[in-house]
Amino acid sequence: MFPRLSSPLAYRHEPSPWRHPVGTMKRNTKLARSAKTSKKPSHAARLRGVYRRLLNHFGPQHWWPGESDFEVIVGAVLTQNTSWRNVERAIDQLRKANVLTLSAMVELPMEELAELIRSAGYYRLKARRLRNMLDFVTQRYGGSLDTMFATEHDALRSELLAVNGIGPETADSILLYAGNKPTFVVDAYTQRVLKRHGWIEPEADYHATKHFLEKHLRRDVARFNEFHALFVRVGNRFCRKQPKCDACPLAAVLPRGGPHKWP
Ligand code: SF4
Repeated sequence: MFPRLSSPLAYRHEPSPWRHPVGTMKRNTKLARSAKTSKKPSHAARLRGVYRRLLNHFGPQHWWPGESDFEVIVGAVLTQNTSWRNVERAIDQLRKANVLTLSAMVELPMEELAELIRSAGYYRLKARRLRNMLDFVTQRYGGSLDTMFATEHDALRSELLAVNGIGPETADSILLYAGNKPTFVVDAYTQRVLKRHGWIEPEADYHATKHFLEKHLRRDVARFNEFHALFVRVGNRFCRKQPKCDACPLAAVLPRGGPHKWP
């Protein structure tokens, strides 16, 4: 609450320019200016700092692990709700069965496909989702990934999101890592890190988090590629359910009171 002006105490503590000599006024103006200029870093500067710290600590992550664009797409669908280790096993099975191409996989009976990807978990559901994706590429783009990725980014993103079983994270992974499109992939780790540091609202959803990152970062495929991989790395290694801030490369940029509460 502000002191009432009628109070003599209020007058005594109220800084009045008329009572100060000119030198003091200049000093006060300077102080006010420096207070303004020493404000907190912008989100863009902060994110650049986070990127540098993570890259210095972990080094380049060389994502996405896949030998072809098609393999990246398969991996993006299979990695939903499971570890990458399990996805690798499933991809190995597909490779051994010689069906790790669009033309071969689209011919595979659904039951057989499901069996081959069993190690990725939810294998019947994922087989259906994979098939939906293959049908989409076949029917809309004649089975050509090159033609598909030649489509304008936002338009293709909307088309992918309309495929049953392709959510925003999967669509963005396909666009960034197979299509080289400048779209940021948000995952649970990214949200957790940003929320614990108080850089986005606790209730920020996928779209809001993506918007925040893309607004404050240069739209650069290589940077988006590496940054997402680094978020996953720091989340997996340090920003667990119980955060291990002491050893984390982002400890230096924590809020003063420590990490914000996040479920
Ligand atoms: S410093 Fe703590 S809150 Fe921040 S990313 Fe690391 S573990 Fe998470």
